[in-house]
Amino acid sequence: MFYGFDVGGTKIEFGAFNDQLERVATERVATPTDDYQLLISTIAELVEKYDRKFGYKGSIGLGIPGMEYADDQTVLTVNIPSANGKPLRKDLEARIGRQIKIENDANCFALSEAWDKSLEEEESVLGLILGTGFGGGIVHDGKVLSGRNHVAGEVGHTRLPLDAWLFLGENAPLFDCGCGKSGCLDNYLSGRGFELLYTHYYGEEKKAIDIISAYQSGESKAAEHVERFMELLAICLANIFTANDPHVVVLGGGLSNFEAIYQEMPKRIPNYLMSVAKCPKIMKAKYGDSGGVRGAAFLNIK
Ligand SMILES: [Zn+2]
Repeated sequence: MFYGFDVGGTKIEFGAFNDQLERVATERVATPTDDYQLLISTIAELVEKYDRKFGYKGSIGLGIPGMEYADDQTVLTVNIPSANGKPLRKDLEARIGRQIKIENDANCFALSEAWDKSLEEEESVLGLILGTGFGGGIVHDGKVLSGRNHVAGEVGHTRLPLDAWLFLGENAPLFDCGCGKSGCLDNYLSGRGFELLYTHYYGEEKKAIDIISAYQSGESKAAEHVERFMELLAICLANIFTANDPHVVVLGGGLSNFEAIYQEMPKRIPNYLMSVAKCPKIMKAKYGDSGGVRGAAFLNIK
């Protein structure tokens, strides 16, 4: 039995999966955001409850909006103040008496998609989230590639490539990022970035969903904006693909529902790849909001 926890800023989702990777239990509770001991006991009690129910001690994986520092195992997670700076995994292991795996939630998203039946044979899967932010996770041979500092796949905090800067031209916006740097892809390729770019070029604020419906009804500013965004996305994705060379790319997050992306990327990306490289298969994520908990549980498959 595989237990997964998707620990978010407002709720904790628990899921139990059997050996066929089918979900056999689900529970959601509020995240104790200001009481660390309560956070520990909330998670531990869910484990104990389902251990009793199944008569079996399941393996435990945790997905968090953040990551563990490699040197002292404390976590960086601004969305969960009670856990920020605390050795969450170590304290849970001491309380529950079992080894626990912990990963960034974008890595869990990628792992969940990679374990879909249709992708099991694929050697590497790159999961990218075009949501409020832009992030990702790399799965190789069914396992998350986490890296020395657990930041592998944090593509949102790589900076705009030169091609992108030249393409945007004289009036290119240089957006500051929450991480303290400027020009991070997070602020250009996310749903928020899609809106920030629109505001920069047209001086008005508009929701991504409204820009897309204006584009679909043929409005000229929206058409120009989408054309610019598609080329920018292609340039940046090509750069990421050159570094990772994934077999399959899965897109999640709100903006991944914009169907034009799946028509435009295969046409545009090859222009920015090395001549020996083909554009990988790019597909929409299957598991939506349940990807986090699935991926957390599947940290223990391999
Ligand atoms: Zn950044």
